[in-house]
Amino acid sequence: MKTVIMGAGAMGSLFGGLLSLTGEEVWLVDIWKEHIDAIRSKGLVLEEKGKTQPIHIHATTEVASVGKADLVLIFVKTYHTEKAVSNTRALQKESTVFLTLQNGLGNEETICKQIDPKKVILGVTGQGASLLGPGHIRHAGWGKTYVGELDGKISDRANQIVQMFCQAGIETEVSSQIHHLVWEKLFVNVALNALAAITGLKNGQLLDYPETLRLMGALVSEAVEVAKREGIRMEGNPMDRVKIVIEATRENRCSMGQDLDFKRRTEIDTINGAIVRGAERLGIAAPYNEMITDLIKVIEKRF
Ligand code: NAD
Repeated sequence: MKTVIMGAGAMGSLFGGLLSLTGEEVWLVDIWKEHIDAIRSKGLVLEEKGKTQPIHIHATTEVASVGKADLVLIFVKTYHTEKAVSNTRALQKESTVFLTLQNGLGNEETICKQIDPKKVILGVTGQGASLLGPGHIRHAGWGKTYVGELDGKISDRANQIVQMFCQAGIETEVSSQIHHLVWEKLFVNVALNALAAITGLKNGQLLDYPETLRLMGALVSEAVEVAKREGIRMEGNPMDRVKIVIEATRENRCSMGQDLDFKRRTEIDTINGAIVRGAERLGIAAPYNEMITDLIKVIEKRF
């Protein structure tokens, strides 16, 4: 399956690198020339469990040079999705499938503004990676990946993607409940990201103060209300799972925290901002998510 990855940062390079090690034809496409030049000249350097290896992989800034793709994997930050998808015209043939494994809510809707929804598959991943410099990444997390059709049907093409990922050591399953799984991950990001980013705390420290525990509870309960009204079924109390994930990543500084630390734009619009928009659409209030979204936006404006 010829796979083209739009956005070859930490995650795009991780998935691309692992897939190409199994002999798959993979192309990394990115607008960051220095990074692409480094991959072309020295290979993609992957650090994994104390081992470092260079991976030789196609990489380009010129999407028109790639040819047609069977699978286009969108791995830009969510605020770049529209632009990245608009650049994929030259990759498309009748059977080309688009997959997003980005964080947050509404990524498939953004893709579907330009791509026929029948060609779009949604996913969520527990894999993690960091970008250490041009052409250099570290594999930092090994959670499960799920992919699923937007209508919940189990399809051959979703199974093919699962098989390809599993062969590359990316543990993946097809899900008939992919929207549910996206929401489950969103609850964690809604509780954790902006709050840790603003307070400067590491993930686990959010569990150590009654104030942050209370704020996380309020952020998640607003998100749960939106999810319920959107028809998402939930088993148990989502906050219990949120706490388990935060405890398991206790020592990490979350990605939004790192974004603020390095004065980069955040993905707030597809995390807490998505809850605010969902609540507005449903005519309910989400004051905690609204406030934290506004605070992050003001901080971003000061960069
Ligand atoms: P990143 O910033 O490392 O990589 C994004 C890349 O996209 C950059 O290299 C950038 O130059 C490139 N880009 C921007 N506009 C482009 C365009 N128009 N065309 C092609 N490339 C373009 O980000 P990341 O950490 O890899 O995250 C990507 C997505 O995956 C995000 O939605 C993130 O939330 C999600 N995610 C990240 C992790 C993680 O551990 N890093 C884990 C799970 C999910």
